[in-house]
Amino acid sequence: MATVPDTLSLIGNTPLVRLKGPSEAAGAEIYGKCEFTNPGASVKDRAALGIVEDAEARGVLRPGGTIVEGTAGNTGIGLALVANAKGYRTVIVMPETQSREKMDTLRALGAELVLVPAAPYSSPCHFVHTSRRLAEERDNAIWANQFDNVANRRAHITGTAEEIWTQMDGRIDGFTCAVGTGGTLAGVGLGLKAKDENIRIALSDPHGAALYDYYACGELRAEGSSVAEGIGQGRITANLEGAPIDTQYRISDEEGWHWVQRLLDEEGLCLGLSSGINVEGAVRLARELGPGSRVATILCDTGFRYLSTLHNPDWRAEKGLN
Ligand code: PMP
Repeated sequence: MATVPDTLSLIGNTPLVRLKGPSEAAGAEIYGKCEFTNPGASVKDRAALGIVEDAEARGVLRPGGTIVEGTAGNTGIGLALVANAKGYRTVIVMPETQSREKMDTLRALGAELVLVPAAPYSSPCHFVHTSRRLAEERDNAIWANQFDNVANRRAHITGTAEEIWTQMDGRIDGFTCAVGTGGTLAGVGLGLKAKDENIRIALSDPHGAALYDYYACGELRAEGSSVAEGIGQGRITANLEGAPIDTQYRISDEEGWHWVQRLLDEEGLCLGLSSGINVEGAVRLARELGPGSRVATILCDTGFRYLSTLHNPDWRAEKGLN
């Protein structure tokens, strides 16, 4: 491979790997987009770069400025590395329930880390509202606002969707993933539908999220809970508005963990729980589309980010995840 000019050029253009076990289970061809190969080891590097470049282009992010954001962690890591590469500062607000590895990574990147208790979105203490307030209080600071800033999903329309279409030679029947902000699902969905409107787009929703019921029967209603980090949405974010979703699945942590474990044991891939939930969704979508169908999904981040949680047997026993 040729050289690349700088760190930011390492974001995107991730490989698409055929997943053997899931393909065999579905009698189909299932591919995973290896987002853990981004420099921040997650899909969120794309949104982070898109949001920062958009703020620069609009003239709201000026030299020496500060980027403030509320995040489950991965967006913060993406923003911190983009900020370091471009000479900005970052303030990252995160719920204290997220993995230790994410906090340590953010501190190592030099982000100012603000931990808040897990609180419902309706509470002023919620990490998103706290981050907006902090951005308003600081001089020369912007609020990245990943949930409602559509520069997030644009990065997936122009990046992720184009890459998947090219990598699959235009032979793709379906795509699915879970939603945190909705940038990935809506962006890839819109991008692929623009290529071929027959490509089926499916939501893979964890328990405890409200979107499955919204797309199934028009009502935002949550049921159960999930320990998956970075996914599980209770409202229609700006990034989700107009997302071309044809079908939806509700997927348990156990079903997601099944694939995380099998991909680790049988294929040597170490992933987080949202990736396992995506793979279960891809298997269901491929079964629905029929034998030999070709389905893509997202392998959102590296499992090395969850050695103290998901990949730790004591933690799983405590959470009742087997
Ligand atoms: N998986 C993980 C591990 C994440 O951190 C995120 C982002 N919060 C997602 C999936 C969902 O991505 P998006 O925000 O594009 O919906």
